[in-house]
Amino acid sequence: MRRANIRNGKTGKKRVYSNKYALSSIVFCKECEDVFRRVHWNNRGYRSIVWRCVSRLERKTHLCSAETIREDELHQAIVQAINEVLTKKDDYLAMLLENIETVLNENTDKPTADIDEKLEELQMELLRLANSREDYDDVAEEIYRLRELKQKVMLKNATREGLRQRIEEMTKFLQDQPQQLEVYDDLLVRRLIEKITIYERQVTIVFKSGIEVKKEV
Ligand SMILES: [Zn+2]
Repeated sequence: MRRANIRNGKTGKKRVYSNKYALSSIVFCKECEDVFRRVHWNNRGYRSIVWRCVSRLERKTHLCSAETIREDELHQAIVQAINEVLTKKDDYLAMLLENIETVLNENTDKPTADIDEKLEELQMELLRLANSREDYDDVAEEIYRLRELKQKVMLKNATREGLRQRIEEMTKFLQDQPQQLEVYDDLLVRRLIEKITIYERQVTIVFKSGIEVKKEV
């Protein structure tokens, strides 16, 4: 079972949740930015499973007024969102193709090569200065700055590669899925959905590829 550390947006408090359900740790309250948690409810003998904002569950004073949402309603909204994307498959595929081209066109591989070259030069220079007992502070500082810059560029590349993979994953799903979904699928949610926010009766589903769909429950 995977565990995730979730930091509460407002209080900065850290919580640990198990990800037994695909929706644990990806459903957020738009009002207070806390996560929604799955709860078994027993309302005068009527049993149901609901999702509720954690800040409402844990605090005695109800600072957040987020509505509780029934699990079947939440699942239904997600199925509808996925089906909406499937219905407009061609439009979304065209959009994803455009996005992937934009991502690939940002040529960021070259800068690291340039930085490496410059770093090598500076290291030689530093060595020369040190050997001749000259001041090398400026050179050392520049090396430090370039190393940081290289880190940043590499991180950006990795993020870009991640996004490219997520777009490809969504494209593959849209191409392979022949018909609309009839039932909620936890595995599919893990595969496709990045984040869900709930505000009043509106559920916003953000796919990992960046596609966003809003549904009323
Ligand atoms: Zn809340």
